[in-house]
Amino acid sequence: MMISAIPLKENVDLKEYSTFHIGGPARFFREIHSIDDMQQTLSYCYAKNLPFFILGKGSNCLFDDRGFDGVVLLNKIDFFEQNIPGTFHVGAGYSFALLGVQTARQGWSGLEFASGIPCSVGGAVFMNAGANGQETCHTLTSVEYVHQDGTLQVFQINELAYAYRHSPFQSLKGAIVGATFTLIPHQEARRNQIEIVNKRKMTQPLSAKSAGCIFLNPPQHHAGALIERCGLKGLSVGGAQVSDVHANFLINAGNATCHDMLQLIKFVQRRVKEQTGNELKSEVRYIPYNPVN
Ligand SMILES: Cc1cc2nc3c(=O)[nH]c(=O)nc-3n(C[C@H](O)[C@H](O)[C@H](O)COP(=O)(O)OP(=O)(O)OC[C@H]3O[C@@H](n4cnc5c(N)ncnc54)[C@H](O)[C@@H]3O)c2cc1C
Repeated sequence: MMISAIPLKENVDLKEYSTFHIGGPARFFREIHSIDDMQQTLSYCYAKNLPFFILGKGSNCLFDDRGFDGVVLLNKIDFFEQNIPGTFHVGAGYSFALLGVQTARQGWSGLEFASGIPCSVGGAVFMNAGANGQETCHTLTSVEYVHQDGTLQVFQINELAYAYRHSPFQSLKGAIVGATFTLIPHQEARRNQIEIVNKRKMTQPLSAKSAGCIFLNPPQHHAGALIERCGLKGLSVGGAQVSDVHANFLINAGNATCHDMLQLIKFVQRRVKEQTGNELKSEVRYIPYNPVN
C-alpha cells in the first residue's frame, strides 16, 4: 500500500492537553478531524512503526514529566447526528458533557450523568465513564473503531464485554472514532441532569487541576471515604495534594510534577492498605515516556 506523508507537529507541550496540567512534550502531535484522517494517520504510524497515543480531553491522563516519545493523536472528530428520535450518533471527539446536556434538554434520559464529566465521547467509551448510577455502556449501542492498521470496524454492544470503568478497547490498539447511544424519553431528564451538575459543584473541587476521582471504589467501599478515614485530606507531596474538598481527588495544587503525583498515589495506597486493609487501584492512566505499543 502506498502511504503518503502525514504532517506532524513536533515538541508539543502535553500539559496544555491534560486537566492535571502535568507532563512534558509529545515528540510528534496531530489533531484528527475525520474518520478518514484517523484511518490514514494510523496506517501511516503502523507502516513507519511509530508508536501512538489517542488523546481525548486529557481528563484521565497523567503524562510523564519527560513527555511522550511517539505520536499523540488528539481526537477532534466531533460530528453529531440524530436521525432517529432518541438515537444519537456522535464523533468520538464530541464533548460528552455537552451530549449529556443536549440530550437531557430534549427530554431523553440515560446520559444525564455525562453533563458533569469534562471528557470526550471516545474517552467515556474507552473508560466506561459513569456516575450517579449510570454508566456509558448502559445506553451505548455501537462503536466505530479504527484498528492500528487503519481498518474500520463497527462493534455492536452485544459484542463488547463492559464492566465497572472497563471496556474491551483498553486491550486493543486503535481509536474509537464514533459511537451511537439510544436513550429513553423521560419528563424529568433535564431536572435530574441539572441536579447532578449542582451536586458536583458542591462536593467536588471542580476549579482545581485534577483528573476527577483518582482511585476506583473497592467493592462495598468508597475510595474517598477510606482516604478521609485515614486522615489524608490536605496531604501533599511537592505540588500534588489530596483535595480538602473530596479525598478521592488528587490535585495539582501548584507546579506538581508527574513524579510528585505518582509518589502521592503510592503513599495514599500504602496508607489505606495499612489502616483499612483495602487495596486502592488507580483509575487514572499514567502514560509512560517510552510507549508500550
Ligand atoms: C473534574 C473531573 C470529574 C470527573 N468525573 C468523572 C466521573 O464522574 N466519572 C468517571 O467515570 N470519570 C470522571 N472523570 C475522569 C474522566 O473524565 C474519564 O475517565 C473520561 O472517560 C476520560 O475521557 P477523556 O476524553 O478525557 O480521555 P483521556 O483522558 O484523553 O484518555 C483516557 C484514556 O482513554 C483513551 N482514549 C481517549 N479517547 C480515545 C479514543 N477516541 N479511542 C481510543 N482510546 C481513547 C486514552 O488513550 C487514554 O488511555 C472526571 C475527570 C475530571 C477532571
